[in-house]
Order: sequence, then C-alpha cells, then structure tokens
Amino acid sequence: MLPPRQHEAKPDGAAWPLSRLPPRPPSDPVSTLGPVDGFRGELQTDEARRTPFGDASGILRTLPDAVAVPVDADDVAALLRWASSHDVKLVPRGAGTGMPGGNVGRGVSVDLMTHFRAPAVVDAERRTAVVSVGTTLAELNLAASVHRLHFPVDPSSGERCTFGGMIANNSGGSHTVRYGSTRAWIDALEVVLADGTRVSTARGERERHPRLAAILAEVDAALAPHADSVVARWPAVRKNSSGYALPDYLRTGDAVDLLVGSEGTLGLVTSATVRLAPLPVARGLALLEFTDLAAAGAAVKRILELRPATCEIIDRTFIDLVRRGAEDPGYPLREGLEAILFVEFEADTEGEVAASLAALEAHVAGVADRVTVAADQARRERFWHVRHAASPLIAKLSGNRISMQFIEDGVVPVPRLADYIRLLRRVLGEHALPAVIFGHAGDGNLHVNPLVDVAKPGWREELEAIVVEVAAGVAALGGTMAGEHGDGRLRAPLIETIFGAETVACFRAVKAAFDPTGILNPGVILPLPRQRPLDAIRY
Ligand SMILES: Cc1cc2nc3c(=O)[nH]c(=O)nc-3n(C[C@H](O)[C@H](O)[C@H](O)COP(=O)(O)OP(=O)(O)OC[C@H]3O[C@@H](n4cnc5c(N)ncnc54)[C@H](O)[C@@H]3O)c2cc1C
Repeated sequence: MLPPRQHEAKPDGAAWPLSRLPPRPPSDPVSTLGPVDGFRGELQTDEARRTPFGDASGILRTLPDAVAVPVDADDVAALLRWASSHDVKLVPRGAGTGMPGGNVGRGVSVDLMTHFRAPAVVDAERRTAVVSVGTTLAELNLAASVHRLHFPVDPSSGERCTFGGMIANNSGGSHTVRYGSTRAWIDALEVVLADGTRVSTARGERERHPRLAAILAEVDAALAPHADSVVARWPAVRKNSSGYALPDYLRTGDAVDLLVGSEGTLGLVTSATVRLAPLPVARGLALLEFTDLAAAGAAVKRILELRPATCEIIDRTFIDLVRRGAEDPGYPLREGLEAILFVEFEADTEGEVAASLAALEAHVAGVADRVTVAADQARRERFWHVRHAASPLIAKLSGNRISMQFIEDGVVPVPRLADYIRLLRRVLGEHALPAVIFGHAGDGNLHVNPLVDVAKPGWREELEAIVVEVAAGVAALGGTMAGEHGDGRLRAPLIETIFGAETVACFRAVKAAFDPTGILNPGVILPLPRQRPLDAIRY
C-alpha cells in the first residue's frame, strides 16, 4: 500500500511558479551552517540561483535549499565531508534531462556539469576515453569521431545529457539492442564517497582503496545469504535502470557495477574511463508493417536473431496521431496498422548490410504485412522522420491536455512485449486517457506519453492509480518500470512491487554500506517513509 498523498498541487492543475510553492518546514540548514571548510566553489542560497535547479525534464519539481557548484573533485570531497558531518542532503545534478526526478529535491543541488567539462582524452589504440562527468555524449562523440570511434550507447538526449547522468541512470538508446546500456561500456570510475573519501575503481581490480574495500565487505556480507534468491527472481529483461544491479555485481565483484545506475545515491562520480566502438561504415533500414499486434511481438523475437542495430516500434496510437496530424510523415501510413517496426543494420560493408536486409525479409515473410527497405541515406532519413514526428504534434495539442511522463519507461521480457502493449492500452483506455506508445521493441522497452486533461477533477489521483496498476502489471509480466531512465523519486515507491521485499532489503543494505547517514539523494531508488510517486508533481 502506498502512503497517503501529500503532493504540492495547484488547484487548477497548472504549474506552481517555484517562488509560490506552498510553504516548507522552516528548517534551512544551509544558510545557518556557515562556510564549507576547504570548498572553493560557489554555494548559493538565493532564490534566483536555485530556481533553475528546481526543475528538470519529467513531471516532478522541487526547489532545493541551495546550489553548490564545486570546481573540481577535491571540492566535491570538501562538500561531502561537510554534508556528512552536518547531515545535509545532496542532490547530484548533470544537465537535468533525467525524467523521474532523481535530479531534483530538497537539500543542496550539486552542479556536476559546469566545472566538469575537461576535454575528453581519447586513446584510439585502446579504444577508450577518459571523460569528465560534465561532458555531453555529443562532445565525446565529436572528439572520438576523429579516430572513427564513438560511444555506441545513444540516448536521444545525447546533445545535452552528461556522462554523469548517463552513468548514474545506466542510460540506453535505440542502439542498446545491439550494444547494451551504459554499464557495459564503463571500465573505471573516479568517485567521491559519502564521507568525502575520493576513490578510483576499475573493473577487475584487486587492490582497493581501504574505505571502498570496507564498504564492499559490508555489502558482500549482507548479500551472501540472499544471493541465490535475488538472482533467481531478478527480472529477465534485456535492459534495466531500476534498483541496484545486484546480479551484475554478484557476478563480477566490481564496484563499477553497483555505482553505474545508482542515480547519485551511493557516491558522486567525477570522471570515468569509457570504452569506444568503431563507427559503422554502412547502414540499412527496413520498415515492417503489422495489422496484428501479436505478429509484431513474434517478429521482434525473430529479428533479434539477426543482430539488428536498432529495432524500434511505433504502435497504433502513434501511427494514428502522425497519420492525422503530420503534413509530411516521411512514409505513407496506411489505416488499420497496429504497429510499425524500424529495423536497422550496421556493418563494415554495404554488401553485408544488403545481406542482412535480405535475411530480414525472409525471416519475417508471412509475419509482417509489408516490408519496405530504404535503400539510400536520403530515404532512410525520411523514414526515420516518422519516428520523430509525434513530439511536435503532441507539443501543438491545445486545450487542457498535457503530455506527462509517469509510466514512460517500462521494460518487459521481449516475448511479453505484445502483452505489455495490450496492458497499457487497456489501462489508458479505462481512464479515457489518449497516449502515444513507442520505443525500443528489440529490448522490450516502451515509452508512453499520456495526454492528461488537467481540467478533469481528480486527475492526479487517477494518474497515481494508473502508475500503481501499470507497475503491478509490469511486475506480473516479469519486467521493471525503468528500462533506461532510472527510478528517481517517481518510481522509488514502486520498487518493492517490482523486486519484492527480500531484494529491496538487499538494496537497503547496499545503500547503508555506502551512505550510512543517508545524505546522498534520499528518496531516490529507495523510498522515504510515506513517499508517493507524484508527491512533487509540478502541475
Ligand atoms: C527529450 C529527452 C530524450 C531522452 N532520451 C533518452 C534516451 O533515449 N535514453 C535514455 O536513457 N534517457 C533518455 N532521456 C533521459 C535523460 O536524458 C538521461 O537519463 C540522461 O542520461 C540524464 O543525463 P543528465 O546529465 O541530464 O543527468 P541529470 O538529469 O542531471 O541527472 C540524472 C540522475 O543522475 C544523477 N547524477 C547526475 N550526475 C551525477 C554524477 N556526476 N554523479 C552521481 N550522480 C549523478 C542525478 O542525481 C540523477 O539521479 C531523455 C530525456 C529527454 C528530455
């Protein structure tokens, strides 16, 4: 059962201006605590400085009590020493593009972008790069492209999002079906622990910093009696950004596996060594049309055998919106389609790509209603245009409907994909909530943008009921609520529904070992007492 609601709602459903949020409890530790020993960066409490840090992408918003802008890793260490000795809560922050509210909260918002942008150092021979955490994906890829390399995990926010955020959320993208999520590409991390200790940790290392060794010994002792049952009931999904990655850690013993995906709750990352992949030489795309949803689900399983670079889906809701609204959808959208799959191949030669496309056509013969191949780059770009056509149409929708991301990232085992789409359509239909559904079919990961009528009485309660029902449904399908966006504050209250009490107790043991006083992003991944998903909804 979730605790009683206590969100900060403006009666007409519109967003509160941050300056007019309902009053908070009077405690304001930061302005009363005096200077931070050894800290050379900015620590600001004035409202104008804090306001931009109260907002992020997604539906949650909370004004922090202060903003800290450390100038380097030693500064982060000074801030954490101070925070741990004064029980000040910290909310690490990159570009603020994260969806579920891991980047907003009370306490001190820590800007890990502004001064963490040293140019990436690319080692072309070893295909690695050392990146400062404020570096964006686009910046690293620009530096790596000189060597015909790239970071192959591609969140669509890559122009803006930082490596700190990608590491913290274990971000993914349309190419994750081929390359995996961020975790698989991280070799080493520089981290500041909750007590201000700076540590470096690399995969496979034997010599550990004594503080990190002590933490991991505590984690190992806590996990040992539960390891088998945690692994046995772990969701069998291809990608996951929910909870702490216990099976990965139990397999490798690498602290990197726990820290990646920990959403700023176990330590603040300041730099990383990442692996790079060669840029593909040739690409080819096919669009597969389906009038039957189950057939689309079955086709995805077959397509995975061909190792596609992407396998994306738009469902009927998305197709109908674009068909009705877009002046030039980029591809002729027929009536009556249940889904379209976008399947792309990458290879070293055009010949290999052509062979993969031919194999695809043979593989889905009799399953897909129609297969159209985009032979050249111009046509490929036009076809991809369909996949991006919904966002401007949603933005143009007038009236009281607002697109909100609150069930936007569920992931299920691929064989359950069609069941998951049906579940979403049913729940949304019962609440008469129009939505567009699309996402990374090859990974079983769907994005959902419901269009919420904020003039409807009781809409917030309805949203929460939907979140709870979808989470229960996703759990029953063997999935999690976050394929790539993380849990944040939005999904922390659902964590036990997904993982069960025993695994969540193990999560708590990990958190307690790394952050015994709970100063690092409290309420993210693990809920605080009485926390509810939409407590901090901005509308
Ligand atoms: C239009 C749009 C498209 C998107 N598409 C994708 C997509 O395709 N795939 C995908 O995975 N995500 C996507 N996202 C979500 C988001 O962009 C990613 O999760 C991104 O990696 C967040 O990076 P950020 O720098 O904005 O981090 P923030 O939003 O600032 O922070 C995200 C989380 O990371 C923590 N954090 C940040 N820096 C650090 C650090 N240095 N140390 C410790 N913790 C830290 C924060 O506390 C927070 O919990 C999208 C978002 C938008 C708005």
